[in-house]
Amino acid sequence: MKYDYLIVGAGFAGTVCAQQLAEAGKTVLLIDKRPHIGGNAYDKRDEHGVLIHPYGPHIFHTNAKRVFEYLSRFTNWRFYEHRVLAQVGEQQVPIPINLTTLNKLYGLELDEVSAIAFLEKAREPRDPIKTSEDVVLNSVGRDLCDKFFAGYTRKQWGLELSELSAGVAARIPTRTNDDDRYFTDSLQFMPAEGYTRLFERMLDHPNIEIRLDVDYEDIKLAETYGHTIYTGPVDAYYDYRFGKLPYRSLRFEHLHLPNTAQYQNVGTVNYPNVHDYTRITEFAHLTGEKHNGTSIVREYPTADGDPYYPIPRPDNEALFKRYDELAQAESSTTFVGRLAQYRYYNMDQVIAAALNAAHHIYLQGA
Ligand code: FAD
Ligand code: UDP
Repeated sequence: MKYDYLIVGAGFAGTVCAQQLAEAGKTVLLIDKRPHIGGNAYDKRDEHGVLIHPYGPHIFHTNAKRVFEYLSRFTNWRFYEHRVLAQVGEQQVPIPINLTTLNKLYGLELDEVSAIAFLEKAREPRDPIKTSEDVVLNSVGRDLCDKFFAGYTRKQWGLELSELSAGVAARIPTRTNDDDRYFTDSLQFMPAEGYTRLFERMLDHPNIEIRLDVDYEDIKLAETYGHTIYTGPVDAYYDYRFGKLPYRSLRFEHLHLPNTAQYQNVGTVNYPNVHDYTRITEFAHLTGEKHNGTSIVREYPTADGDPYYPIPRPDNEALFKRYDELAQAESSTTFVGRLAQYRYYNMDQVIAAALNAAHHIYLQGA
């Protein structure tokens, strides 16, 4: 056997597994059908020298010390707390909704106590909470739902809030203080030299061979290896035998604005109810870089294209379960990652899942 492991996909899931298994003395062939490592977290310099994220903005945040310490072996960090404004009418106000949002939108001077009372009056209590509509109405009521969530969600998913599982909107909290950070995790940093450099360091091991522009279909019979770790879409692995698992895609419109020091005041501005794109991100906020011009990206959600988001709703979860039963029964393939596990995972969750998977595979001697 030429390799102990074939790992399909060089995103965080595949890269963490490759690094862990190589370090344990195993040989790994890591492939990706794209021409680069890093999966969706890949970053690169655009033609103007600005570090951009070709697959949309990636901000690292976690409460998991273990994940942070693991990555810290391969990168230094830049402290960065992401802030997002939403365009509502003529104003740009903080999202997640907080005290400032309420005061600006409604021309009020609430303090924390009166903001709690305001939301208590506005909210529509729901029990049980099953859908994303339940989540939003239960916490902020109809007006704020329409201003921030209904239109954005329709654009992002092509679905109503009521058609999505609760976990989607539950990603966005509601606050009655003036904390305007998008995330409140205890660890919020960007890799100092970018994600791709981080991936390069993780994969810099003599036991790891990397082949890019290679599809699993074209190599699975052509090479000899022991165990497979598959991080692509699980339905594709099984040739869609139960039908296609829906994934939402995006089209990214990257723009460079020459001679512009700053395009917008914060990293991301969301557009819930105007434009075909959901949000604009200006990379210089995330990376801290200074250039003569600035680079931004607009995200246009689409039904077709590369699979970026699993779509959390009950019938999709039921279809995934059918694939997952097959996956769990495999003794020579392990499925890990956002596409293989059909979970709306952030990067830190994928890294934790991959650390666990590599550990189990190794312990089982697979
Ligand atoms: P991926 O990164 O998708 O890697 C899978 C790889 O497998 C891909 O490179 C693909 O080309 C390859 N592959 C698939 N099929 C095959 C095949 N048949 N043969 C060969 N190769 C194959 N997370 C955060 O924590 N913070 C953020 O700010 C954040 N922002 C995001 C913004 C956007 C627009 C998106 C889409 C995601 C964002 N995420 C964010 C989530 C983050 O991208 C994922 O959690 C993480 O990158 C998933 O890693 P992965 O290895 O599971 O999958
Ligand atoms: N959301 C919204 N309005 C916003 C921000 C988020 O309606 O201004 C909803 C929307 O359904 C979105 C989900 O909350 O898909 C999760 O948002 P998040 O910013 O976490 O999405 P991601 O960064 O993963 O695309």
